[in-house]
Amino acid sequence: MRKQHILIVEDESKIARVIRDYLVNAGFQVSWLDRGDKVIPLIKQDPPDLILLDVMLPGKDGMELCREIRKFSLLPIIILTAKAEELDRVLGLELGADDYICKPFSPREMVARIKSVLRRITGPPCPEKLMAGPISLDENRHQVLIAGQELKLTPSEFGLLKVLLAQPNRVFSRGELAAQVQGYNFEGYERTIDTHIKNLRKKMDAMLPGWEIIQTVYGLGYKLTDSY
Ligand code: CA
Repeated sequence: MRKQHILIVEDESKIARVIRDYLVNAGFQVSWLDRGDKVIPLIKQDPPDLILLDVMLPGKDGMELCREIRKFSLLPIIILTAKAEELDRVLGLELGADDYICKPFSPREMVARIKSVLRRITGPPCPEKLMAGPISLDENRHQVLIAGQELKLTPSEFGLLKVLLAQPNRVFSRGELAAQVQGYNFEGYERTIDTHIKNLRKKMDAMLPGWEIIQTVYGLGYKLTDSY
């Protein structure tokens, strides 16, 4: 999974380093700018997932930056304020920031605030959801949807589809597929896998006629194609 990218804009290198270390430990990709006037060109070229923006900055201040960014982007901004007077200004102006954090702050709380803003923006993470083309498989709900309609599968068919969907375009041998489908009896597995695949195809074909999503690779096994 791609790491979320946080841009820190902070001219005090000691603070920036502490923030960076905490965010890296929390699993984020982090970049850092120490001047306000470098921010707009950078985010136009490579927009981060969220900006932590200090207010007092050389080049251009954080409030001015926030206003400018909002003219072309809705990317999440958390403002870092040093003093109560700054906070008053931040709150008094309609800057469009998503949250603010007062210095000195607890890095742990900062990470929690960042995660909360990102969750609000992007929705909860669904690592158990696999998708290819019109198919989506939700492991938690044990549900497969094709173009929004539910596809009813047996546990073996569900397991097979899950393995194929996890790595589209990779060819799996029948043995590999059998080994990955839980509760499988290995005796005569080739024929059993062929039968499950045949049934799975029949069900999928009824919903997406002529798509041939699961392909036979002669002499090797099967693959799920995600190009149509
Ligand atoms: Ca500063």
